[in-house]
Amino acid sequence: MKKISRIGLSIVLAISFLLAAFPFAGAAEAAAPKYVFMFIGDGQGSPQISATQYYLGTLQNPDAVIPTPAQLSFTRFPALGIMTTYDATSFNPDSASTATSMASGHKTLSGVINYDTELANPFPIITEYAKAAGKKVGVISSVSLDHATPAAYYAKAPSRGDYYGIATQAFTTGLVDFIGGGRFVMPTGESGDQTDIYEIAQENGFTIAEGSEAVRALNADSGRVLAMVDDPDNAMAMQYEIDRVRRNAEGADSLPLSEMVAAGIRVLDNENGFFMMAEGGKVDWSGHANDGMTSMYETIAFSDAVQVAVDFAEEHPEETLIIVTGDHETGGLSIGFAATAYDTHFDYLQNQTISFEDFDEIIARHREAQDGFEATLADIERYYGLTATVDRPLTLTAAELEALETAYTLSMVAEENRVIGETETLAYGGYEPLSMAICHILNNKSGIAYTSYAHTGLQIPVYALGVGAENFVGSYDNTDIFHKTMQVMQLR
Ligand SMILES: [Zn+2]
Repeated sequence: MKKISRIGLSIVLAISFLLAAFPFAGAAEAAAPKYVFMFIGDGQGSPQISATQYYLGTLQNPDAVIPTPAQLSFTRFPALGIMTTYDATSFNPDSASTATSMASGHKTLSGVINYDTELANPFPIITEYAKAAGKKVGVISSVSLDHATPAAYYAKAPSRGDYYGIATQAFTTGLVDFIGGGRFVMPTGESGDQTDIYEIAQENGFTIAEGSEAVRALNADSGRVLAMVDDPDNAMAMQYEIDRVRRNAEGADSLPLSEMVAAGIRVLDNENGFFMMAEGGKVDWSGHANDGMTSMYETIAFSDAVQVAVDFAEEHPEETLIIVTGDHETGGLSIGFAATAYDTHFDYLQNQTISFEDFDEIIARHREAQDGFEATLADIERYYGLTATVDRPLTLTAAELEALETAYTLSMVAEENRVIGETETLAYGGYEPLSMAICHILNNKSGIAYTSYAHTGLQIPVYALGVGAENFVGSYDNTDIFHKTMQVMQLR
């Protein structure tokens, strides 16, 4: 097998050489795209995309007999491919090894960013090639900017846990022109006594734009920029979209991912073009937590962010390439739950207006007050629509009420005093028991279900639009994302 594939490779290389040596032998070579967007939905596979399409389609056509999927910004793209995501040792890879594959063209171990499996040699990455060709480089993420996916587009680290070392590289290597989204989880290092990362950014000539107003004011004269939200969550990420929408309706002014992408474009646009990687990082986080509605809101926010690039491409036809994919699937989501048979009720999900994370805080307040199951049930009805009142679409069955009460009893015990056995681990995946019980009940009533609290080995769709998009059609490996992009950008 190895010999045959080597011979096959030699033939391909020989043909490539001939084509490169005699470019006029074939069709005239298309110009390389000036602007390249790489969008990565972390943990976003076909199930997350399909569920979001059916959810939106159900809201748009409430009386339709046949389920009608709505289009997301990228599901309309003309080129569609599918890729494998396994890493050097695992079918269920992590974001470090998968982003390494897409950024460098190499497989590595889970947890490793742009280093080989011996942890000895760093890999050159696509943004470095783009930079050498004169392009500006942008990296955006809805989670913390030192998280594995954004890190793989500007840093090299044997361990993804080296947050400070990774963050430092964002400002000291000369590679990055715009970095924006959440913040950094260890701004003064693990021991808290290293030079503040924001100081390092400023020392290296970065303008720091903090908060909605400052980010909206960014433009082509802003220079090199670190852009951050002023209201990050506990993990230094941008808020969950479902919570951002609720809070903004109550008067807050928090930025969505799409505005970060728009700011990045304004800062990066120049006569040599740019390469921008933008990540929707919380599709993954909400997938881990089996929070279906929160996850779909993340995919909608991601789709809105891609739309900004689509609008840009329409203003720059023949000059732009947009690639949209995911790094792996998270949660083992599927459409169709045994108890609802062939039925789905995506409209039920719209009763949820809060993420599991924000609801955990409400649970904590009830734990503090010890004000009883009925009081908590009132909040469950308020934020999820699930009710003990009879004859409603979301009336809880006796079994569901019992499941909620069991989880409630455990959630009312202070975390350090909880006894968590195998049953509880399987039922709640290490999350707040009551939040998980609520999510599972609402998911299942709506006709969706998760099989895992972790990553899965599903193959992931790739959508492409613009110059060279046709190269992304077909079935291939995630390392080919690097090779195909390099080829289309004519970087080697
Ligand atoms: Zn994950």
